[in-house]
Amino acid sequence: MKIGCPKEIKPQEFRVGMTPNAAHEAVQHGHEVIIETNAGAGSGFEDADYVAAGARIVDTAEEVFATADMIVKVKEPQAVERKMLREGQLLFTYLHLAPDPDQTHDLLASGCTAIAYETVTDTAGGLPLLSPMSEVAGRLAPQVGAWTLQKANGGRGVLMGGVPGVGPARVVVIGGGVVGTHAARIAAGMGADVTVLDRSLNRLKYLDDVFGGTFKNQYSTAGSTIELVRQADMVIGAVLIPGAAAPKLITKAQLSEMKPGAAIVDVAIDQGGCFETSKATTHADPIYNVDGIMHYCVANMPGAVARTSTIALGNATMPFLLALADKGWKQACQDDPHLLNGLNVHAGQLTYYAVGKALGIDV
Ligand code: NAD
Repeated sequence: MKIGCPKEIKPQEFRVGMTPNAAHEAVQHGHEVIIETNAGAGSGFEDADYVAAGARIVDTAEEVFATADMIVKVKEPQAVERKMLREGQLLFTYLHLAPDPDQTHDLLASGCTAIAYETVTDTAGGLPLLSPMSEVAGRLAPQVGAWTLQKANGGRGVLMGGVPGVGPARVVVIGGGVVGTHAARIAAGMGADVTVLDRSLNRLKYLDDVFGGTFKNQYSTAGSTIELVRQADMVIGAVLIPGAAAPKLITKAQLSEMKPGAAIVDVAIDQGGCFETSKATTHADPIYNVDGIMHYCVANMPGAVARTSTIALGNATMPFLLALADKGWKQACQDDPHLLNGLNVHAGQLTYYAVGKALGIDV
């Protein structure tokens, strides 16, 4: 199969759909890999790295789209890219179609077959192509939170690990899923005093079994949350209610109960955020002050560490990519119901129920 990987064109997107290692594996499997020039530059991969892996470099996205049987990307295709998709072509990338009727209609009109990373599942009931980005955002959260806590950035001037004779920062993580667990591990590793709140007793049992000596956990209620938030130097928002906006767990009025200069890192901002005062920010201007509390609310945190994110995503997508290329999408989806769950669009038909329901389109 001819596998094509164009350079991402969405603003601020530095990741790339295929690493040189993924290209090498695909070539080893007998496929032809076509990469747009400079596609990997934002993640620190040179054209020469892809050539060494056996891929062919082309000058334009048009050549990639015109030549390839399968297009591998990171972000949903932008309008100009959607015009280049054709009937029978396979698209493998993040799509997030439910809130995006324009993209959905263009994909249907193109006649392509589109498999969305975010709806591919695994045997544990997880989302294997979403979780690497939650891992990245979770591990990044204490790092950016520690920076936000510094005095020059408007923060409280508290060091995560303290020093001998001075206690550590108190960190509260609301939500103990993928983001929250990784955030708690890193914050604890930095020497902070960490408590994770969650509403799932099963999840709390797991956290207690695995991380009992590393960080504390507590059942999340309105009362337990505000009690811990009052004492916190840093609060990390990491809740998710699947398919719904994030619940607002701390109101604007409650900010006045927090310590002056405390830091909020609202990772759940891509679902609206779990603090009433959260509004999405960018890497260029990531933090703002509300009533003396510093907020960090970047909606695409993994972009800050594009190289790590690209490699993590590439590791997760590679087995699926190879199955699609080796067997063709029909056989690959027949063999693997979890990959089939990724199928969102085929030959002008929407094939994913939740997207159809959200957009009022028959499935
Ligand atoms: P997850 O499903 O693994 O974990 C969410 C956890 O929140 C679950 O354990 C759930 O029980 C818990 N929860 C739900 N309601 C709660 C409440 N009221 N109090 C305490 N806990 C509660 O999800 P995840 O992968 O960890 O993602 C968390 C959020 O981070 C999502 O909104 C996701 O979209 C977002 N995210 C943002 C970025 C970014 O760049 N900003 C990157 C990746 C993920």
